[in-house]
Formats: sequence, structure tokens, C-alpha cells
Amino acid sequence: MIDLDPGPEVAELRERVAAFVQATVIPAEQRDHSEHGLDESLRAELQDAARVAGLFAPHVSVSLGGLGLDTRGQAAVFEEAGYSVLGPQALNCAAPDEGNMHLLSVIATEQQRARYLVPLAAGAVRSCFAMTEPAPGAGSDPAMLATTATKVDGGWSISGRKWFITGAEGAAFAICMARTGESIRAGRGATMFLVDADNPGMRVDRV
Ligand SMILES: Cc1cc2nc3c(=O)[nH]c(=O)nc-3n(C[C@H](O)[C@H](O)[C@H](O)COP(=O)(O)OP(=O)(O)OC[C@H]3O[C@@H](n4cnc5c(N)ncnc54)[C@H](O)[C@@H]3O)c2cc1C
Repeated sequence: MIDLDPGPEVAELRERVAAFVQATVIPAEQRDHSEHGLDESLRAELQDAARVAGLFAPHVSVSLGGLGLDTRGQAAVFEEAGYSVLGPQALNCAAPDEGNMHLLSVIATEQQRARYLVPLAAGAVRSCFAMTEPAPGAGSDPAMLATTATKVDGGWSISGRKWFITGAEGAAFAICMARTGESIRAGRGATMFLVDADNPGMRVDRV
């Protein structure tokens, strides 16, 4: 049987997150006047407050400045953070950054960690995850990927259109899924690429 109790330390942390959300994050909701996403200066202010409270980046390893919680601990803390729509951003554990941090921490090379994971974990930049495409491209079924990546001198050329990409505006980089094979099956044919947002070939439009 799996023991899902994260233990007394997480229980105490959970209470501190709940108190932080009540006292600091919820009152800030009224100051978020951005049309889309969270105002960047308010995001920085809330993240500073979370750092001071010792609650920043609960899912990130201690070596990268986080609290190093395991999945059970993360579940408890994320639940409390989610009591306010701004809570996960204050703790730097909002989607899609949290998932991207997890992915990078598992598979990134040392160079990729230094360039993408370290600033993301520190809250210095935001990121996005670009999988979904307009029909008939990828959605529920990622095997329908229409975006292609072709090897060229010095790297890859990615061609395609994505939509519904949370946080694309203002993200420093995207993890972009593209087709690298004729067919996508048995874990082959699709690849995730780290794409710098200041790449001249990347354009973000509001549709
Ligand atoms: C708030 C929000 C944030 C998002 N953020 C991101 C993001 O950051 N990055 C990103 O890449 N995408 C993002 N998405 C897109 C999301 O991943 C897609 O909407 C989702 O994968 C579904 O794809 P689709 O919209 O193309 O719908 P479709 O795949 O076209 O599905 C349409 C309908 O058909 C049904 N359906 C599909 N296939 C089958 C089947 N085989 N059998 C039966 N029924 C089926 C579905 O259940 C659904 O009801 C976001 C979406 C939302 C709403």
C-alpha cells in the first residue's frame, strides 16, 4: 500500500502556505488589472514575498533554491496555493512553468539546465509549452502534430502554428513539440525543442 501522508513537516508548510495566500495573495488579486495573465511587476512582488516567507518554488530541488518537496508534498502545497488564482504564480509553481521545470530537471543537459532551468526555477523568466495546433493538427491526440522540424546546418528549422499556448506572451522560451518523423508512434517521430522567444522566426499573435 502507498503511504500518501506527506508527514508533519509538509502539514506545517501547508498551513504556512494557506496563511500566506490568505494574508498576502488574495488581497493582491484586486491589484491585478492585466487583460491577460498576471501583471509582471505584481508577479515579481508576490514572488519576493514568497521568498521571504520561505515558500518559494516548493517543487524545485534545494540545489536550485527550491524546497525540494516530493510529489506528495507538492500535491498538498499546490492545493493550498491554488486557493487564489495568483497563488501558484506567487510560489512559482504555476502551469506551464512547473511542468517545464520538472521536464527540464529530468532530461535537460547541463548546458540546457544552466540556460533554461536555472532562470526559470529562480522566477527570473517565464516559459510556455507549445503542443496544441489549429485543426487538423495536434490537440487531444498529439500524434496529429502538423508542425515540422527539419535538420539544417547548425540546428533545426521549425515550421508550424500553435494555439491555446498558456503564457506564450512574455515567455522567454517555449518547449515546442514538432514532428521529426513521417509517422508518430511507439515514442518516435515527435521531438520537444527549446525555442528562444527572441528567435526572429517565432511570432506570438492574439487570435
Ligand atoms: C485554458 C487552456 C490552456 C491551455 N494551455 C495549453 C498550453 O499551454 N499548451 C498547449 O499546447 N495546449 C494548451 N491548451 C490546449 C489543450 O491542450 C487542448 O485544447 C486539448 O489538448 C484538446 O485539444 P483540442 O482543443 O484541439 O480539441 P480536440 O482534440 O479537437 O477535441 C475536441 C473534442 O473531441 C473530443 N475527442 C478528441 N479525440 C477524441 C477521440 N479519439 N474519441 C472521442 N472523443 C474525442 C475531445 O474530448 C473534445 O471534446 C490549453 C487549453 C485550455 C482550454
